[in-house]
Amino acid sequence: MKKYGLICIGAGPTGLACAIEAVRAGLTALLIDKGAICNSIYRYPVNMVFFTTPELLEIGDLPLVCAAEKPTRMEALKYYRKAAEHFALELRLYEQVTKLEGSDGKFVVSTTAENGSTAAYHGAKIAVATGYYDLPNELAIPGENLPHVSHYYTEPHAFWHQDVVVVGGKNSAAEAALDLWRNGARVTMVHRDAELGATIKYWVRPDIENRVKAGQIPMHFNSTVKEITADAVVIESAKGKKPLPAKQVFLLTGYHPDFEFIENLGVKLDPTTKKPDMDPETHESNVPGVYLAGVVIGGRHTSEIFIENGRFHGKQIALALTGRSAQTA
Ligand code: FAD
Repeated sequence: MKKYGLICIGAGPTGLACAIEAVRAGLTALLIDKGAICNSIYRYPVNMVFFTTPELLEIGDLPLVCAAEKPTRMEALKYYRKAAEHFALELRLYEQVTKLEGSDGKFVVSTTAENGSTAAYHGAKIAVATGYYDLPNELAIPGENLPHVSHYYTEPHAFWHQDVVVVGGKNSAAEAALDLWRNGARVTMVHRDAELGATIKYWVRPDIENRVKAGQIPMHFNSTVKEITADAVVIESAKGKKPLPAKQVFLLTGYHPDFEFIENLGVKLDPTTKKPDMDPETHESNVPGVYLAGVVIGGRHTSEIFIENGRFHGKQIALALTGRSAQTA
């Protein structure tokens, strides 16, 4: 059985960067992902454009070229596929990591594939870059699991001339509402706070504020969702309860890392923030030989780490493992 210098759990931009930097520093590396390469970006809204300019999404010092000022989802996916090919990275896709056994220098990573078959991989060190997009922040209300309710916005065509309710007040909710409205849906927004989130991008804010002001996208501030039925969203505010008609409901209230998975690896999490116990220089956790990278480091504070900064974690880990970075390898 081949033994890898580093096994990266998760093949998003961060996991790819970890494997690339490990290989450039002279280690062997294996990436394992339960889905496609960059599975989270693959599942982002179909027509999504990154808010980040291309050079801040680059990994392995490879240039990301895009047609406009900012890359589309498709351009980013193509770029990360090409990066994996360029560095001839070894990947196991559609295999979910279920268990980590052993100890520093001799870990065994167990996986289960979609068809139920299992496998085990041996690695000296482990990098955990499992992201946050698989687990939505649920509202825990009746009707949340109905078929017309989703925590993931896709694209607008199916909702032309239909009633759609978007719940949330940050970038994802604002962008989805604007896209739906521009493509002929009757959109209503519901947000629990008194105003839109402070982190809304400076070019999105005037657009959504003006649509709300003009009554084109009705907005219910200070309102909480109590229940979702087959054709309505029941909200409650100081004025009482009110049903909003809805053929489709998008609950865009954020996502969080799989804290249970991380704790099962033996990594301690802060009880409040859920940030992992980790050396900020080396990224090594309280479990010797287990390193953390990307958005999982933020715990509940998922807006602290993006691709923009998470892409550098691989360099820090490679340096900690080998004492060498790509530049000096
Ligand atoms: P991910 O990209 O989520 O990758 C984690 C991978 O781990 C996934 O492929 C998943 O399948 C895999 N995985 C999880 N659990 C397991 C397991 N048990 N076994 C095997 N594999 C597993 N950031 C920016 O910098 N700029 C932007 O413009 C930007 N736009 C965004 C737009 C949207 C709509 C969203 C939702 C986020 C955006 N972000 C942006 C944030 C950014 O996408 C994330 O911070 C980034 O994807 C995190 O990268 P990652 O590699 O840490 O995690």
